[in-house]
Amino acid sequence: MAEIAFSGKPFGDSSHNSHLWTVEDSAQLYGLDLWGNPYFSINKLGHVTVRPKGESGGTLDLKALVDEMEGRNLGVPLLIRFDDILEDRLDRLQDAFQKAIAQYQYKGNYQGVFPVKCNQQRHVVEELIACGKKWSFGLEAGSKAELLIALALVEDPKSLLICNGYKDQRYIETAILARQLGRRPVVVIEQPDEVQRIISASNQLGAAPLIGIRVKLASRSSGRWGNSVGETSKFGLSIPDILSTVDELRKANLLNELQLLHFHLGSQINNIAVLKDALQEAGQVYVELSALGAPMGYLDVGGGLGVDYDGSRTATSASTNYSLQNYANDVVATLGECCESHSISPPTLISESGRAIVSHFSVLVFNVLGVGTVSKEIPSISENDSLILRNLRDTYENISFLSQDSPIETSFLQEVWNDALKFKDDALTAFRLGYIGLAERAKAEQLTWGCARELIKRVSVDTSHSNELMNLRSALASTYYANFSIFRSAPDTWAIDQLFPVMPIHRLDERPTQLGHFADLTCDSDGKLTRFIDNGRCKTLLDLHELDDSEEYLIGMFLGGAYQEVMGSLHNLFGTTNAVHIRMTSKGGYQVDHVVRANTKSDVLEAMEHDPNHLLERLRIATENAIQGGALKIKDARLLMDHVETSLRQSTYLNR
Ligand SMILES: *Cc1c(COP(=O)(O)O)cnc(C)c1O
Repeated sequence: MAEIAFSGKPFGDSSHNSHLWTVEDSAQLYGLDLWGNPYFSINKLGHVTVRPKGESGGTLDLKALVDEMEGRNLGVPLLIRFDDILEDRLDRLQDAFQKAIAQYQYKGNYQGVFPVKCNQQRHVVEELIACGKKWSFGLEAGSKAELLIALALVEDPKSLLICNGYKDQRYIETAILARQLGRRPVVVIEQPDEVQRIISASNQLGAAPLIGIRVKLASRSSGRWGNSVGETSKFGLSIPDILSTVDELRKANLLNELQLLHFHLGSQINNIAVLKDALQEAGQVYVELSALGAPMGYLDVGGGLGVDYDGSRTATSASTNYSLQNYANDVVATLGECCESHSISPPTLISESGRAIVSHFSVLVFNVLGVGTVSKEIPSISENDSLILRNLRDTYENISFLSQDSPIETSFLQEVWNDALKFKDDALTAFRLGYIGLAERAKAEQLTWGCARELIKRVSVDTSHSNELMNLRSALASTYYANFSIFRSAPDTWAIDQLFPVMPIHRLDERPTQLGHFADLTCDSDGKLTRFIDNGRCKTLLDLHELDDSEEYLIGMFLGGAYQEVMGSLHNLFGTTNAVHIRMTSKGGYQVDHVVRANTKSDVLEAMEHDPNHLLERLRIATENAIQGGALKIKDARLLMDHVETSLRQSTYLNR
């Protein structure tokens, strides 16, 4: 047992609690300066602000915006989509490639496409096509349904429609006919057997599609999607397959239509070195295809342009060790060099950047319904209580007697805390063996938590980030019950341990005194958020505020615009949340361009083949029987039916 004494070595005279908390402290704590730039920041009121047009446009107070949406009966949980951010991201991508083309005096162009699978929402795709019109920005489809979107929405004859994914004869025929309609679809051969279907569809229709080939690169990628390349990857042709495909196209008189080489390294490339290798390899394949007599003209570097979710600029899973400009420079410089050294004209460069375009534009805001916290009560212990409890009380009192002005040394802190934990374990063992009852066990737990609280008050500035302190704070951590479903709104946090920036959107001028994680509304024990960004690392607890009865506590999940919506599921029958599209006006205000209503309970029931009317009728008959039996009053039966009927029309989330 540690002997309690004053620490011999003072660490300075201010404990970590003494300075006033500012919004700058919050910005640093939540990494906002790192990942939020240029769109998200904090104002003097301690609210998160949004600059949808980046540095150049007006600023919105996110908390005020949420309140005003609530005023329009669009309460939380709410998905807010900033269409100006979408446009700004597209501008930046285009700009980065234009700068690189100028800097490296690249003789070709850049022409991007949006991979529809990243976010298929109508308003998102339409917005991107509208904003991208000036550069003939196109779409990439990975399935027949996505092809339908691309065919119907992209009307510019110069815009590319990249047709990826598995293709049957009808898919290919559709692409050929669309070319005659004046569109620019490129059928990318991803499987060796597709070339025969292309040949037979072309013979059938007496017309050919534009053709591309997806190459399986040998360059290894890294990160979660690293196995999207390499010999065992799902898509793409090996070099021998490419050679025989070229042969078959030549024999069928279709080699003239082979114009594009495609590769895709997998999403969220963390390390730029991986990209450089792939670009060199793909460049050589491009050169060889030209030499074999294909006209070529396009090189499509696929997706994978990463998002720096934690702003750490590292080659870790929630980050990237490069910027958008670095990426564009590498693509342009590497391929420029390759073509120049072989004296062939440089291709039009295509990227299928999805994540990098749509991640930033949507913010999910949810409210906290309650907090599960450890008890703050300190029980009184008498001499009649068991030795274990008396030991714990003594430990607690000894800590309480320590001055709060001379901080405790780390090693000593740990020693005292170990004592408390040991006594708590003893209490648990005694309980299991039947020596103490529930009441004593409760007291032991309360005293242990009390020890942690008293120790924290005496930690010095120097140790404020130490593991020892984190251990203490974790012992007191709270569960924040959140009004949303992980499985619906943030599925990747569950499925692939993806990290998104998560933080309160207000009270940021107040010191967050609690550590906590989030539990969602589902009955699934996986339905929780317990991993948070931490500047290149990951932490399991987030600094949060104590709930204030007078005000809803609102949390934002940021950078979730890519993949989350469509991957989300109806687990526990939680449906979509309300979504709003916000556009800045020329006067610096905003307007709500579109409202996409949340799924009602009727919607999600019908999705599972239940008929809400039928369910209501069964309930009505049950109430009728209960009325006959005298168990239910008519007025209560009506109240029950009213509740259920109203509920069917409302969203699946809890109301304020
Ligand atoms: C998924 C996918 C993309 C999009 O990748 P991001 O990392 O979101 O940019 C692009 N191309 C292909 C072939 C894909 O499968």
